[in-house]
Amino acid sequence: MGLLQISEPGGASPRRGSRKNVAGIDLGTTNSLIATYVESGQGAMESAVEGTVQTLADSHGAHLLPSAVQFGATGVLATGAAAKARAAEDPANVIISVKRALGKSHDELTASGDYRQYRFAADRAAEAPAFLTAAGARDAVAVSAEILKALAARAERHAGASIEGAVITVPAHFNDAQRQQTRQAAELAGIKVLRLLNEPTAAAVAYGLDSNERGNIIVYDLGGGTFDVSLLSLQKGIFEVLATGGDTALGGNDFDKVVVDWLASKAGFAAIEPARYPALLQVANRAREALSEAGQAEVVWGGWCGELTAAHFAELAAPLVRRTLSACRRVLRDAGMKLGDIDHVLLVGGATRMPVVRQAVSEYFAREPLHDIDPDRVVALGAGIQAEVLAGNRPNEDFLLLDVNPLSLGIETMGELVEKIIQRNTAIPVVKSQQFTTFKDGQTAMTLHIVQGERELASECRSLARFTLRGIPPMAAGAAKVEVRFQIDADGLLSVAATESSTGCKAEIQVKPSYGLDLGQVEKMLHDSRAHAREDMQARALGEAKLEAERLIDAIDGAVKEDGGLLDAAERQAIEAALASLGEALAGGDPALIDERRARLNEVSESFAARRMNATVGAALRGESIETFENLAK
Ligand code: ADP
Ligand code: MG
Repeated sequence: MGLLQISEPGGASPRRGSRKNVAGIDLGTTNSLIATYVESGQGAMESAVEGTVQTLADSHGAHLLPSAVQFGATGVLATGAAAKARAAEDPANVIISVKRALGKSHDELTASGDYRQYRFAADRAAEAPAFLTAAGARDAVAVSAEILKALAARAERHAGASIEGAVITVPAHFNDAQRQQTRQAAELAGIKVLRLLNEPTAAAVAYGLDSNERGNIIVYDLGGGTFDVSLLSLQKGIFEVLATGGDTALGGNDFDKVVVDWLASKAGFAAIEPARYPALLQVANRAREALSEAGQAEVVWGGWCGELTAAHFAELAAPLVRRTLSACRRVLRDAGMKLGDIDHVLLVGGATRMPVVRQAVSEYFAREPLHDIDPDRVVALGAGIQAEVLAGNRPNEDFLLLDVNPLSLGIETMGELVEKIIQRNTAIPVVKSQQFTTFKDGQTAMTLHIVQGERELASECRSLARFTLRGIPPMAAGAAKVEVRFQIDADGLLSVAATESSTGCKAEIQVKPSYGLDLGQVEKMLHDSRAHAREDMQARALGEAKLEAERLIDAIDGAVKEDGGLLDAAERQAIEAALASLGEALAGGDPALIDERRARLNEVSESFAARRMNATVGAALRGESIETFENLAK
């Protein structure tokens, strides 16, 4: 969500009447919204840019569309509030929190507690697992498309014409699969996606923080199903994302669950019937939201009646609130910042209305967070503003917003080591190249193993893809030049290309969306890399020492085989002894010892190498193969 400014090519000002009808959509776990440019009235002067993008209400005046779809034998029966209201009576057919199912595998869904009230289609291998509803199997893309259709219809009613495109927001940590399924849902709904935009970025845009000269901004977004925290840095009107973090399994829903647990223990039932769970959650949700407005809330469940006080709720919620603050702490640490470096804190997401949350955030950051824009609407408003910019409706603010790459991407090199090519938290889109070479003489192919993660050893990272570059002309080890180019496009899709410089032979791959990398795993990978930092450094040192040693052993073995005649007996003996002791050190696994013995082998073979070189230069001058010379000069 970088907010680096890039001018639109030929960003000419739109003529009056040529304004494109575009929208910003917050496709939320719990609630979704749509925002568009709203005319300020007939005959009005060209109005100021601020305040012209607004969220649209339905015919009852509600801006929030609950992200719920009810299916029946004839298809979609209801969306939004009407569907949500029937969740308790028709739990299997009212799909809620479908956003959490985007990009997930069958096993992940069935294992997840979020979907215990649903049945899933039997095809476990399906790319997109489907909910079994009265209307048949419906996957997360299809269900999300229904929500998007309802929003688009709202915009169409408002403007009298269908929207020409939309900016749709996604959580900062959505992976490729989740982003792609979001796009697919929009396509299925007949909406052209101008861009996917990270939610915290949209919020920063809505607050217009770019009009400041400089500052560091924390966006704390606690929605119904996800928690995202991002640290943006603003310099001379340009935003950059320094770090992102959060928890995809933490939101208002989880605060509802602690209330359910409390209710269950108070009302004295051991196990909750799955079918009754949605109803119970609704009771808990109502009590929790009521608490934000008043000091206590009455809870009625069946024949049981009790009281939840703000103080007791604060106690129940404390562990969850602490988890959000730890994520904030990690983000600060990732960015190398202290609390005192933060200039603004933004509260986003309906769940930040809970006093216990707002208070904890202002205490932690020691400042009053910004919350004057409705935390439910702020993301949709930012997306709407961004849509206006992308559509060229705002010629004076033509910048695009960039995202970041959440985990480092690199390739495996010899010794199972990882060479990182794009570091984590790099703003995307991005292109980075690095040169690699062959390991063996005469090597004509190279396997590129693309890995993701922060660890030094490839086996500890996440394997994304492998591909092979063939057609490298046979050369001495280390002579070939292969350029490996990593490119991440604006949607986070990675393309990797390897090109050999002398022949131009090329191989490339697009890393396919990989299911199942959610924020939990991103966090675990980051945590592991910190926990294993020292051991990883040692592993890298050992890997590198081994590699160098093996290279030298190979070279000397080959040289002795070819030109052993140039050696006298004492030299040969010294080289053989040095080879043997290096071999022993290699078996021992102490990098310092390996390096020391390698240096020794170099030393005792130095004059032999020089003599070989002279012999070959002589041969080359006599017109023999120059390749042999290269072979030795390495
Ligand atoms: P999402 O981005 O996940 O769709 P929202 O930003 O719409 O979520 O936030 C929804 C969450 O906000 C729900 O968990 C809801 O209970 C919570 N919420 C909304 N209003 C209040 C309130 N007044 N007090 C406490 N929580 C609230
Ligand atoms: Mg949200």
